[in-house]
Amino acid sequence: MSKNLVVVSAHAADFVWRSGGLIALATRGGGRVVVVTLSLGARGESANLWRQPGMTMEAVKAQRRAEAEAAAKTLGAELVVMDRMDYPLEVDMEMVESLARIMREVRPDYLLTHTPKDPYNKDHETAHRVTFLAREVAQAHGFEPGQPVLGAPPVYLFEPHQPEMCGFRPTCFVDIGPVVETKLAAMKCMEQGQPHLIAYYRELAERRGVHAARNSGRPIRHAEAFEAVHPVVGDFLP
Ligand SMILES: [Zn+2]
Repeated sequence: MSKNLVVVSAHAADFVWRSGGLIALATRGGGRVVVVTLSLGARGESANLWRQPGMTMEAVKAQRRAEAEAAAKTLGAELVVMDRMDYPLEVDMEMVESLARIMREVRPDYLLTHTPKDPYNKDHETAHRVTFLAREVAQAHGFEPGQPVLGAPPVYLFEPHQPEMCGFRPTCFVDIGPVVETKLAAMKCMEQGQPHLIAYYRELAERRGVHAARNSGRPIRHAEAFEAVHPVVGDFLP
């Protein structure tokens, strides 16, 4: 089961909290995972670093980049840092086209990104929009003609911080039991920038594990939740 993924993360750590288990499962199975982080979250998702005296934007960015690189390495993923400013994250054509080129090159089996709605974090909505714009561009025959266009990789949304407020309705739970220690190790890479989230997402994995077991009858203890955007196509029901 070798599956390739492109994961679009608004900030330096989103991909770890929300999909670190799935990423580790994919790379452990021999798949290629490219994480694109559109910004380092230096303005809006690095409060713990800004509390340190004498902190500068350059130092915050360097720390967040180091953390993201260490987490990606732990998960076995490749990391592309676009390093745009966050809060607010702005869409530009270069960002969309760069992401489209990555999609064409990786030819992912799945795309992962944020929910379209997040009342607390408009950057997450922007990342969702950029993902869909890039997917369309990568599918367009008139974009850099002569290259194979992207097929139709399904998009899955990863779990936002306050799922009810974002209209998130999980359509699948993935058993991350085999890689839960790897996800924990990746989350620990973020302990300078966002230490308060490590326990929160460890506990969320346990709660989602309970839900996954309840929905399957399988002895699952740790899970991640995702919502499918597109209909699942198969020879029978999934
Ligand atoms: Zn974020």
